[in-house]
Amino acid sequence: MIEATGVSWRYGANPVIDGVSVAARPGRVLGLIGPNGSGKTTLLRLLYGALRSGTGQVMVDGDELSALPSREAARRLAVVVQETGGETALTAAELVLLGRGPHLSTFQRIGRAEHEIAARCLTRVGAAHLGARAFAQLSGGERQRVLIARALAQQATHLLLDEPTNHLDIRYQHEILHLVRNLNTCSIVVLHDLNLAARYCDDLVLLDRGGAVVAGTTEEVLDPEVLEPIYGIGIRRLELDGAIHLLFQPVDQTTDERSAA
Ligand code: ADP
Repeated sequence: MIEATGVSWRYGANPVIDGVSVAARPGRVLGLIGPNGSGKTTLLRLLYGALRSGTGQVMVDGDELSALPSREAARRLAVVVQETGGETALTAAELVLLGRGPHLSTFQRIGRAEHEIAARCLTRVGAAHLGARAFAQLSGGERQRVLIARALAQQATHLLLDEPTNHLDIRYQHEILHLVRNLNTCSIVVLHDLNLAARYCDDLVLLDRGGAVVAGTTEEVLDPEVLEPIYGIGIRRLELDGAIHLLFQPVDQTTDERSAA
């Protein structure tokens, strides 16, 4: 479980995150949503310790994150951020092996057991066939799978992902989020697509510029009355086969310009 209480961050005089509290629970997927520039990436970075808040605290399974030695933090938290490893000369399997780092002693050689763990993790994400390929030459969706395999090799119980569906086509967007949802980790994922959030997140934190936040279950937060003032767009919510779907109507486009012409 990751529990942040009263964390804040400002760039210069600009408060981005202002006394925010969030809780991500085991076996659930927490989505961080909000318009561009509302602070989603900043909050995620506070939650995995890349930024240290001057106020409040971040607890991971009851221990303060800032007090954990970095190897211990890496055993608990795995992070998949955008544009990782694009320049590397490593193969996909070698990149996944890096995830074993927090579990090896300083001079321990990587043995057969480690290679087997890496291979198993690639299999779990449906990427066994990619192991020998150069990571830098993989497609966006293939890279995301390999990075998630690396996170699995790390055997962390918490997985944090920053817009893992960016640049992916629709099929891969769903495959990657379906995979995350079925991992049984405590997962936190930054998403900008509200319909993907509707489908794959149990809980949501909705950020607005200036640090305001709405938090709750996906069902509660994806309420047009809550979303419309923040996104500045008309929203209709439909429920089809028990699932939430949002339709968007820009407020200044109530007339279809083609039919008006
Ligand atoms: P989001 O992920 O929701 O798009 P970010 O967390 O990336 O938002 O950014 C939140 C705000 O902080 C934005 O106004 C952005 O311009 C600003 N910001 C982000 N990174 C920096 C930085 N390194 N220096 C100054 N301002 C930044």
